[in-house]
Amino acid sequence: MSSEAEKSGTPRSKQSEDELKKLEEDYQKLLEDSQNLINERSYLETEIRTLKKRATRLDDEVRLLKTPPLIIGHLQDVLDERTAIVRSSNGTVFQVALNQRLEPKKLKPGTRVALNQDTLAVIEVLHEAWDPMVSGAEMVEKPDITYNSVAGLDEQITTVREAIELPLLEPELFEKVGIIPPKGILLVGPPGCGKTLLAKAVANQTEATFIRMVGSELAQKYIGEGGRMVRELFSLAKEKSPSIIFLDEIDAIGAKRLDGSTSGDREVQRTLMQLLAELDGFDALENVKIIAATNRPDILDDALLRPGRFDRIVTIPLPDPKGRKAMLALHTSKMSTSRLQMKTLVEKTEGFSGAEIKATCVEAGMIAIRDKRNKISQTDMMEAVERIMVKKSTSGITSSPDALYG
Ligand code: ATP
Repeated sequence: MSSEAEKSGTPRSKQSEDELKKLEEDYQKLLEDSQNLINERSYLETEIRTLKKRATRLDDEVRLLKTPPLIIGHLQDVLDERTAIVRSSNGTVFQVALNQRLEPKKLKPGTRVALNQDTLAVIEVLHEAWDPMVSGAEMVEKPDITYNSVAGLDEQITTVREAIELPLLEPELFEKVGIIPPKGILLVGPPGCGKTLLAKAVANQTEATFIRMVGSELAQKYIGEGGRMVRELFSLAKEKSPSIIFLDEIDAIGAKRLDGSTSGDREVQRTLMQLLAELDGFDALENVKIIAATNRPDILDDALLRPGRFDRIVTIPLPDPKGRKAMLALHTSKMSTSRLQMKTLVEKTEGFSGAEIKATCVEAGMIAIRDKRNKISQTDMMEAVERIMVKKSTSGITSSPDALYG
């Protein structure tokens, strides 16, 4: 019996053992699956978080893209803490509301502001960052023009070096001796004789930033614009110091003050007042120097020439024979020429400016190239002189070699 039971029990226990094993295997598999599912879930959760972040970022981007543009204008007057008068970019003047969160001390006439498109309410004050597009100024960190590129102006170079270079490079000399160096100098002379060149050479020598502004750019017709540009110009110069401001055609804003009848005249006078205020407002020993240039010194307002402003006047005339010889030598030095009769060329170029002498050399080079020669001859130079003379008589005095080819 027992052996029978054993006989019959053995397969049963084997069967249950097998079942147990299978169950265990299933259980292990389930455990593995569940672990895999847990891993998958955490991976998906991370994925969701990343996608949510991306969606928020895209939402922000869409919101930003949908934001209506703000109009740029200028404050003209602040009436009270809630209202102001602004001039929008197209020149129309409006009375508008002020954003109450703006700091009142930042709201000064002439300040650049952003305006709501519909209501023109002042939304924010834009910082007075220098905007080259607005200012029309040209800036070069350290121009590559040296004194060697300026021919025939030895005396003028000496004066400019003493007045501008020395105070920038060795201000302690002036402090020790107890004299105040000039803040600026005025270069006077016809166009194309090297005023810009000289100013750039000083900037190169003193490793200063060269900032050039043309007076006519400052003679803006909108109220407050010219004054703001002058302010920006000086603050840029201080920021980039040591720097040299080169104010070309200063007569455009510095002409004698008459009883200005048009609002344009009055605006130009306001710009001049701002320039005078800026000139008076900085220390002569600061690392900013101003070189102004004009070919109409006769019409300049005396206020500009007072001590402490443009103290020194340096005349840069049309070159004399010695100057023309130096210029011809300089401009032909890098050209391939046969032996030139300098004396004749100097005589023939009487009345030429530096720019016209440069243009003559370039023209002679063009003649040689057209003839497929690689050396410039005396005949080329003489023909070039004739051509420049004709252009000079038809188009008036030229200040830039480019103008002759324009
Ligand atoms: P503007 O009054 O029109 O600004 P400018 O007197 O400043 O004229 P520059 O711009 O200095 O004239 O000169 C124009 C070009 O003429 C120079 O780039 C240079 O090629 C040539 N030039 C003028 N003067 C000289 C000079 N003294 N030595 C060498 N080159 C000169």
